[in-house]
Amino acid sequence: MTHDAGDVHEHDVRIGVSACLLGRNVRMNGGHCRESWLTDVLSEHVDFVPVCPEVEMGLPVPRPTMRLISPDGSEDVDRIRMVVTKTGEDVTDTIDTWSQEKLDELEAADLHGFVLKKSSPSCGVFRVKVYDAGGMPRLGGQGRFAAALTARFPNLPVEEDGRLNDRELRESFLVRVFAYARWKRYLAEDASAKGLIDFHAVHKYALLAADPAQFKQLGRLVARAGVEDLAEVQAQYETGFMAALTEKPTRGRHVNVLQHLLGFVREELTGDDKRELERMLELYRSGNVPRAAPLALVRHLLRSHAAPTWALDQIYLRPYAQRLHRNEAV
Ligand code: SF4
Repeated sequence: MTHDAGDVHEHDVRIGVSACLLGRNVRMNGGHCRESWLTDVLSEHVDFVPVCPEVEMGLPVPRPTMRLISPDGSEDVDRIRMVVTKTGEDVTDTIDTWSQEKLDELEAADLHGFVLKKSSPSCGVFRVKVYDAGGMPRLGGQGRFAAALTARFPNLPVEEDGRLNDRELRESFLVRVFAYARWKRYLAEDASAKGLIDFHAVHKYALLAADPAQFKQLGRLVARAGVEDLAEVQAQYETGFMAALTEKPTRGRHVNVLQHLLGFVREELTGDDKRELERMLELYRSGNVPRAAPLALVRHLLRSHAAPTWALDQIYLRPYAQRLHRNEAV
């Protein structure tokens, strides 16, 4: 298997997925809603852990439709109930109990991301319908399982099937999933103060592209790693690191980062190198080529002009599986 996503092996990356998105016939109507990007593209690069809350908690296929209700109009997740639409049978306690047991199991599976089915009263993450006592819906809820998942693992990258059609959201998800996998591996295999400093160093340009202010804050935090309680520093770092990567970098910021990286070899660049670089950056800036194009050129120039290892090791240059990145970088 390739070894090209930083130094995370592709199939060491595990993503939980709502089982119906993988083509399993587990939906209320007995069908599925296969998401082809997951099954035909992403499946080549990561391992999936399929989960169907409703079937795994013991409901049949097919089954009656269910929905979320808030009898008193409250948005508090603890006051929202999940019921069978026709009969009003309340299944909230069943799914909540099952979810906590399942999350214990998933904690051991060490997931690096989760893709959930939109709009589902069990799996939906964003803008799920919640009905009031009069039967009027508002779009502000979360499926019962999704709510338990995001509460237990607040830094876990999560996305929904519909949003994955947006190329920028999709790439952001990939960047975060592979970053989280590298972070989890650091915790499992090293977890030292020096390891944290090294981790931060190789993510410098990825963080500068995403959120320069947070990069500085994380730098100050890392400086305390040798003197303060390391577990506490790591917990704060994980939260800040994953939050920074949810910020969407602009093309202008990417161009700045690419130019900064080339600063390491600027003196050695020939006139042709510089002209080709300017042409490529302009094509990228104007939206005519994806980021993979200038990135490939910058990687080539850094390597051919013997840039320091510190620059060549930057995760920014290869944020996730290279074959995937070639097609997904926007
Ligand atoms: S949305 Fe969730 S609960 Fe519904 S069928 Fe898909 S995996 Fe199962």
